[in-house]
Amino acid sequence: MPRTQSRTQREAAFLALATPLYAELEDWYDQHPAASFGEIEAEARRRRRELMGAGLAVLINGRDTGFQLDTPACPQCAQPMAFVGYRPWRVSGLEGETELQRAYYVCRECEGQTLFPPGSAVAVTPGSLE
Ligand SMILES: [Zn+2]
Repeated sequence: MPRTQSRTQREAAFLALATPLYAELEDWYDQHPAASFGEIEAEARRRRRELMGAGLAVLINGRDTGFQLDTPACPQCAQPMAFVGYRPWRVSGLEGETELQRAYYVCRECEGQTLFPPGSAVAVTPGSLE
């Protein structure tokens, strides 16, 4: 099953992540009314990592998980491979931890022949699916 989302759906998913984090920042500032700009910034920076990590997952997973409507051919025997499901792929980026989802295929004919079709995320980190 493809899990792609429209841009509007992705925006809604991102806002659903951002809204509670902003509310937490408001609550934190209520509890620390004398906080300096630097302290507020430090608190915001910590939350930014969480938001960016999860937000990038929305951005990337919502566009392309490597799922293919036309089943990919086995690189060994050229028979159509079977879609098994999605596997998590954890990326530690500069902005936070992101869990990407990658479509996973197996060949029913060849023992152990598996495939994670490349998606848009592969261009960011070549070879990281191998
Ligand atoms: Zn095969």
